[in-house]
Amino acid sequence: MRAARLFEYHKPLRIVDADYPQIKRPDHVIVRIRGAGACHTDLHVVEGVWRVSLPLTLGHENTGVVEEVGEGVEGFKRNDPVVVHPVMTCGVCRACRAGEDMYCENLEFVGMGRDGGFAEFMLTSVRSLIRADGLDLVEVAPLADAGLTAIRAVKKAAPGLYPGSFTAVIGVGGLGHIAIQLLKQMTTTNIIAVDIVESKLRLAEQLGSEYVVNARDDPVKEVMAITGGRGVNVALDFVGTQTTHETCLRILRKGGKFIVVGYGGVINLRSADMIANELTIEGSLVGNYIELQDLVELTRLGKLKVITNRYGLDQVNEVLDKLKTGELIGRAVLTP
Ligand SMILES: [Zn+2]
Ligand SMILES: [Zn+2]
Repeated sequence: MRAARLFEYHKPLRIVDADYPQIKRPDHVIVRIRGAGACHTDLHVVEGVWRVSLPLTLGHENTGVVEEVGEGVEGFKRNDPVVVHPVMTCGVCRACRAGEDMYCENLEFVGMGRDGGFAEFMLTSVRSLIRADGLDLVEVAPLADAGLTAIRAVKKAAPGLYPGSFTAVIGVGGLGHIAIQLLKQMTTTNIIAVDIVESKLRLAEQLGSEYVVNARDDPVKEVMAITGGRGVNVALDFVGTQTTHETCLRILRKGGKFIVVGYGGVINLRSADMIANELTIEGSLVGNYIELQDLVELTRLGKLKVITNRYGLDQVNEVLDKLKTGELIGRAVLTP
């Protein structure tokens, strides 16, 4: 089968003829991939930020149809359309019993720790599958990671948001454009979308963002002006550079919350400032199975629409380059 694999850090992926996956456990499932979204984390893997065992097939944002099931699998059969949660979990550890899939003690991450979906077929387990009947499998592929990560961050933000509150969404890319829609569905906050690309700010407006700020100017000054000098209740950082971290810390109001989703920078905050302004800094990591189920349901109800661009598997390196330069609107999805 064809697969886009990383053989060496900092090098382009190579399209190779890889081995068809093997079912080794009764709960294993092989999915014929229909959509595999490209994520900044794929770039980070190529850059060696995460040390993985190479060669590796990337791609952790997948949909497809069931091809084969292990002998213990019930409820799914060949050709069933599915969205695949990006981690395989054991189901019996304390975290799994609490529903926190990302904390599973026996977690295996497709496209990170084991082969992912930039391929014709991928192995996962039945616990990771969500039914996607009636949905366009390319359009919903980004739910499995971009959407999932966005909904978890928005759920962390939502309890503190009230009518008249302000939320800054830093970065209107794959995650940010979904987060804006979720904030609209789940809260009554005023959204301030911040990006450096004008077309992304126009998209934020179309999606219902009350304010947009071009970060090439002075985003701190503009956000403070919009919020009457108080700052935002929540800053959602979907970019994660040193600059965006610093911007977030400077635009928080007293009692504000900084939710870190994008990563790469270092957060510097004097403890005296943290106490004086009673700030909260919270990391947010992908999302659990239930959160993915909520997203699929929101999509089914027509309340969430991911903007996707389709590419062939052989365009994978071109897609990763576009991701790096920030020129993609919405999410790029490979169709192996
Ligand atoms: Zn990702
Ligand atoms: Zn577990």
